[in-house]
Amino acid sequence: MSFERSSERAYRHGDAGPAVAEIRFKLVVLGLLADLSAPLSGTSTAVFDDDTDRAVRAFQQQRGLTVDGVVGATTYHALDEARWRIGDRILFYMPARLQAGDDVATLQQRMLDMGFDCGRVDGLFGVETEQALREFQRNVGIPADGTCGPTTFKALDKLARTVVGGRPHAMRESEAINRAGPTLSGKLVIIDPGHGGADIGVSGHGLDEAALAYDLASRVEGRLTLTGSSAFLTRGPDGDLDEVDRAGFANAAGADLVISLHVDAQANPQAAGCATYYFGNDRIDHHSSVGERFADLVQREVCARTDLVDLRAHRKTWDLLRRTRMPAVRIEPGYLSNPGDAARLADPAFRDVLAEAVVAAVQRLYLPPDEDAETGLLHIPADLRTGAGRPG
Ligand SMILES: [Zn+2]
Repeated sequence: MSFERSSERAYRHGDAGPAVAEIRFKLVVLGLLADLSAPLSGTSTAVFDDDTDRAVRAFQQQRGLTVDGVVGATTYHALDEARWRIGDRILFYMPARLQAGDDVATLQQRMLDMGFDCGRVDGLFGVETEQALREFQRNVGIPADGTCGPTTFKALDKLARTVVGGRPHAMRESEAINRAGPTLSGKLVIIDPGHGGADIGVSGHGLDEAALAYDLASRVEGRLTLTGSSAFLTRGPDGDLDEVDRAGFANAAGADLVISLHVDAQANPQAAGCATYYFGNDRIDHHSSVGERFADLVQREVCARTDLVDLRAHRKTWDLLRRTRMPAVRIEPGYLSNPGDAARLADPAFRDVLAEAVVAAVQRLYLPPDEDAETGLLHIPADLRTGAGRPG
């Protein structure tokens, strides 16, 4: 479950004032809110009404964010990023504070379509985007300065419409997994217990999310270590980091895989089951293929070993999934607001089964794609032996 830090101001249905006017203005610019009913910026009487609530939810749905109608830091930043169109500003690599926006995503998408590997289409102008841009500039014979200004915009415009290459990022991700080989030995897996410290996440039936996530993470860590891989947790039992820092930790460690653990809760106590999320953006039809495969494996293993309802794998653009440079998933095995799920999660034996399911999914991720065929082949030697033993 996503969270708003208590120090952050969040705006929702019923709020009024200049900040609400600004939010409404951004929604109007994006075409999600009708112009006529929107008092423009600076109006202290602007109200977060039903239409605003609907527009915010539609925006969150489009962007792969948590759809709750609340404009906290995450949704606010996403609204801000959404206003940039390619050509609006000069784009370049700023290590201290990466430029973020739809213009960066468009640049990345165009380069990928032409076969220049800039990594994920995450809308962040990082070092891979700069390298791909230099490569592109060299190829079209303009100064390879890694800065996307007027000359590059023109070149992109001319070429992007005519040249269509492959999907180098998807291929590279899968190749990295295949190259890594079928054992877990030497793999570095970052396990991220959600929330922590003052932020306990959701709670219900005597359980809280932060403590539960930490307990689950420790169980996964112990089992992963037995397989010969290295596993690190992003936080201690009481630690707290925001999602950007957690992603930064995984990137700095050069992890092979990131597994974030949360649980969910809803006002409706009927809501129950396990869902897994991976990086993906339906708006531009881009996702992490290995993230998707791993999320599917987690769902398969968890739902085969437990009676949790299968809520399947879904694409999200949450910071931890978006800013990590390696496949990352967030698993939410159950709802604390549901009596049945909460009772299951309260049982340490059940949490052990969940941890085993997660580790089984990690092992399957690194098996070669033809593993099923090889399993089938194991029966053949016996048949051959029987045949060979018979006198001709
Ligand atoms: Zn959570």
